[in-house]
Amino acid sequence: KVKKQGKNGHQFYSPDLDVQLLENIGLESDLRKAIERNELVVYYQPQFHAQSNRMIGVEALVRWNHPTRGMLSPGVFIPIAEETGLIYEIGTWVLSEACRQMKKWHDEGGPLIPVSVNLSSHQFHQPNLVEYIVKILEETKLEPQYLELEITESMMMDPAVSISILEELNKIGTRISLDDFGTGYSSLSYLKKFPIHKLKIDRSFITDISENHNDKAIVATIISMAQHLKLDVIAEGIETKDQLDILTENDCHEIQGYYFSSPLSASEVEKTFFVPNRLPSYQ
Ligand code: C2E
Ligand code: MG
Ligand code: MG
Ligand code: MG
Repeated sequence: KVKKQGKNGHQFYSPDLDVQLLENIGLESDLRKAIERNELVVYYQPQFHAQSNRMIGVEALVRWNHPTRGMLSPGVFIPIAEETGLIYEIGTWVLSEACRQMKKWHDEGGPLIPVSVNLSSHQFHQPNLVEYIVKILEETKLEPQYLELEITESMMMDPAVSISILEELNKIGTRISLDDFGTGYSSLSYLKKFPIHKLKIDRSFITDISENHNDKAIVATIISMAQHLKLDVIAEGIETKDQLDILTENDCHEIQGYYFSSPLSASEVEKTFFVPNRLPSYQ
């Protein structure tokens, strides 16, 4: 019987687990070959300034174009990559690919905007993280202020260690945003000590914001707190005009979500957003 370690050290049995396990073993061996076979793709989701419709950045989101299963989302394979250590190789590849693409866009006259790249917990705590980010920036020639690293509260369980990593990243000039903000456990007293630039309000607070007064209150509070802490703030998962209006009424003007654009391939981004006189426009 397949057993899994439960939260409090209890063992529990789930009938779905065997199937899940076998699936993952198959995926794991495929994932080992995915990079060399060029099956990983980076999509880019544009971020906008709501009033001006100006594009202010893109988030790099990895996908796996699996030979038989089609396009797989990171939710399926990033956890496997984390468990097997493949995350280092994948993470490095995504970082360099995203920096290469953004530098290319800058060189071709595209908007001078940053690219955000998600870091996994393992990557964040990797001893040579800063070293290899510097190496990637040198190799791709992307200026460091155009690379934004997305980390989450759950990675910062040891505040002293986290602060020293963040300070090193600050020194090399990259920007840092706190992703999925509001879903972790970071204490507010540490928040002011973390040398970060931006809070990304998690989608879970946005989904029902039109009907749910509690969500609306939480979002308004996060926005106001960000302003007081002099942090930028962006909302993710905006899908409707109604949600957009509530955010802008509460003074959050940076928006990411299907309402403006879903994540797109690099060439789709160019076709849709880099053509002058086409809306939404940039600069
Ligand atoms: P995330 O960093 O919070 O990324 C936002 C996710 O929300 C993306 O899902 C995006 O497609 C989705 N999204 C954006 N706007 C909307 C919207 O309006 N409505 C809805 N329902 N969803 C929206 P995706 O691409 O499936 O990525 C899921 C997660 O996988 C990411 O969450 C991130 O934590 C992780 N991930 C993605 N790429 C990488 C990567 O290169 N490295 C690492 N370590 N993690 C990654
Ligand atoms: Mg993210
Ligand atoms: Mg997020
Ligand atoms: Mg999220």
